[in-house]
Amino acid sequence: ADQEDKPHVAVLANSGLGHVIPLLEFSKRLVVSHGFRVTFLVVTTVDPNPAQDQLLNAPGLPRDLRVLGLPAVDAASVVPEDSRLLTWVCLIVEASLKSLKATLIELRYPRALVVDLFCTQALDVAGELGIPAYSFCTMSAKMLAFSLYLPTLDREVTGELVDLPGPIRVPGCPPIRPDDLLDQVKDRKNEEYRWFLYHVSRFPMAAGIFLNTWEGLESCTLRVLREDSFYRQVPARQIHAIGPLVHEDGDAEGLRSTDIECFAWLDRQPEESVVLVSLGSGGTLTTEQQVEMAWGLELSQQRFLWIVRKPTDASASAAFFDVGRDEEDDPTKYLPQGFQEKTREVGMVVSSWAAQVAILSHPSVGAFLSHCGWNSSVESLAKGVPMIAWPLYAEQRTNAAMLVEDIGVAIRPSVEEGRKVVGRKEIERVVRAVVSGEEGKRMRRRAREIRDSSIESLNQGSGSSHASLAVVCEDWKTKSRGCEEGLCA
Ligand code: UDP
Repeated sequence: ADQEDKPHVAVLANSGLGHVIPLLEFSKRLVVSHGFRVTFLVVTTVDPNPAQDQLLNAPGLPRDLRVLGLPAVDAASVVPEDSRLLTWVCLIVEASLKSLKATLIELRYPRALVVDLFCTQALDVAGELGIPAYSFCTMSAKMLAFSLYLPTLDREVTGELVDLPGPIRVPGCPPIRPDDLLDQVKDRKNEEYRWFLYHVSRFPMAAGIFLNTWEGLESCTLRVLREDSFYRQVPARQIHAIGPLVHEDGDAEGLRSTDIECFAWLDRQPEESVVLVSLGSGGTLTTEQQVEMAWGLELSQQRFLWIVRKPTDASASAAFFDVGRDEEDDPTKYLPQGFQEKTREVGMVVSSWAAQVAILSHPSVGAFLSHCGWNSSVESLAKGVPMIAWPLYAEQRTNAAMLVEDIGVAIRPSVEEGRKVVGRKEIERVVRAVVSGEEGKRMRRRAREIRDSSIESLNQGSGSSHASLAVVCEDWKTKSRGCEEGLCA
């Protein structure tokens, strides 16, 4: 059919790979499986990180998916210098969305607008234009439940949430220990907390909420969100679990030379023998922790593939802005002296960034030491790989606790009394346990069950995630044709 005949929807992503990747995948699915034409609107800065740029300009994107950057924002002019990560993100979004109304009019009123969790100002703009607007929550269903409960906590608790004497009882969910709360709610006096609360308070304004999860992964929480009276603010029929959305890098985008080396190396390793160590798009270790990590991997005598970054004591998300920027980066300069020579037989070190999903899909990979970002967690489970939970920032501690305690697919190393870092012996222990121990076998079986459930959920006949999205798509196709013809203007 001619491109113009296809129903048109717009998807709006905040900048940052953990947001762009799942929303782009969602957009591809609308095009490829549901017959839409999609405009992918993305918040951009004057200095975007190269990994994101590469993804958005990939030659293999489907023809009916058009990427359109909103006018680039100069971060230096809108974000005060000492701002934390989420404040930075939200101020950029706010500046960027000033052009949204004009853009949507220019796009001739798409039938629906799907907006990133931290772009909720767009819900107002869509409302003014009469365009149905949906939210895309890039977190777990459990984090959605917590977020819907946060305005209540904000009203009822006077001090800091982290100082509460016991775990936080989110209606219908396993309790969350104060330590495992997401960073943004640990300091209520900080701007970041206000921003988080502002955006999550607006979930109920959306016509529906898409989640990158599925029944086989979070069935209890999904049921609670739909049935528990506390969540009446968001009607059950508006919660759409449509995951897993997994970016199969490598098929369309083409692999870089380091990726090709990685796969050649993985091809030579025995099945399920390698631990992948990777800390998301922004994660970094402190200098002391990086040394312990190197020793721990070496002592474990297990095979490893380590996506390594320059350590820093400044912040655990220091690579967020720069991932892939330094092409000359040379890990031998910051890994312990002799580490690579000593581990040459068993280890492979890649600087900064690699094709994570393709690596997780490789039969030689047996475990994933991950920062537990939600996308990485979903990817590991969709590929049936058990995890070592190494949370660093944002909501990763909540995810880690869930993966270990509620789902049973991960192990979490502990920090010895009086120390700030996870010691080498503990790293050696957890790597061995997952790659070659009995515990690892049990977690792998569980991860496989979840992988199988993810495959089933996407089945075009009987899958729950497929059906959940198909229902909304039908609605978009039939109900709002008037808007596209300009009748809503
Ligand atoms: N990723 C990747 N290569 C890397 C590191 C990360 O492809 O070397 C991808 C990963 O597959 C995931 C995303 O970047 O899709 C990171 O998202 P996540 O939610 O896990 O963490 P965040 O980066 O948002 O903290």
